Amino acid sequence: MPTSNDMQKVLDIQDKNIIFEDHCVSYGIHKQKKCKLIDCTLTYIPTECKKCQTPNKAYTIIKNGTQTSRITFPMAGIYPTYLRVKKQRFKCKACEATFTAETPIVKEHCFISNFIKAEILMKSADARSIKSLSEETNVSHATI
Ligand SMILES: [Zn+2]
Repeated sequence: MPTSNDMQKVLDIQDKNIIFEDHCVSYGIHKQKKCKLIDCTLTYIPTECKKCQTPNKAYTIIKNGTQTSRITFPMAGIYPTYLRVKKQRFKCKACEATFTAETPIVKEHCFISNFIKAEILMKSADARSIKSLSEETNVSHATI
């Protein structure tokens, strides 16, 4: 099996906090179509609380479950590909706030990969129809 480092290169993911484990690629069904699912975990030790900025010393910030996001990815092969990111959730003992691990590969609350946005921008320069763009990139008409 490829190492996590190899998967990061295959998918052009520069965030070293995203970890791929063995057997992370599987097939599934989404919107009645066969698709490829790639599972990964986003975790790190935060330096400070995102809400109150208290430094994370002596376990001020503790792990607090996970939250999984599905990100539409550029196709890797012939099937629509989704990245399922299991994000670490944290809790700050100073202010009781909870927050989720972040990655530059997706903006917060936006689950469409920035790669796809770049792909759409490149393709729209060719003045192709939104319908064909939507089919090729697997993103809804409205989003495009
Ligand atoms: Zn806090």
